[in-house]
Amino acid sequence: MKCPHCSGELTPESDFCPHCGNLLEDEGNVFCSMHPHVPGIAVCVICRRVVCRECGKKKSGRWLCLDHENVKMEQDWALIFESPDINEAELIKSVLESVGQRVVVRNFGPNNVVWEGGGDSLFSRQALNRPAKVFVPIPEYEKAKLALDEWTASSATNH
Ligand SMILES: [Zn+2]
Ligand SMILES: [Zn+2]
Ligand SMILES: [Zn+2]
Repeated sequence: MKCPHCSGELTPESDFCPHCGNLLEDEGNVFCSMHPHVPGIAVCVICRRVVCRECGKKKSGRWLCLDHENVKMEQDWALIFESPDINEAELIKSVLESVGQRVVVRNFGPNNVVWEGGGDSLFSRQALNRPAKVFVPIPEYEKAKLALDEWTASSATNH
């Protein structure tokens, strides 16, 4: 089964498409989480809240709520951290991995993956002078953000 909007894979029970956020039910059955009397048209692909035409933002074919409209996404991944310092990016990666988060460090350039974890092309990365980017799967963004915020708060109090 495929989504009529983005042709992403769906399960028969889906009432929304997890790839683009469009609702697969008839309009009028579901209401916006911010505006309880307004019919919802989609869910935010990050937090799965129902949005309406007023409060939903569609970016690169994906629906987002106002809280998440500025989250950068590449393919099925959401950007959680970005730094020109590869060591800092690696640190964030290990913090997220320590709480069981799936994570990749990579840079989606025009050729997709420029660099991905493991150190062998560190030098070429520095030569390219591109920020290292830490991505998590889109549906896990909120959980990862929370873990990162907690870690930031606890490392601030330890100083
Ligand atoms: Zn879709
Ligand atoms: Zn959201
Ligand atoms: Zn709304």
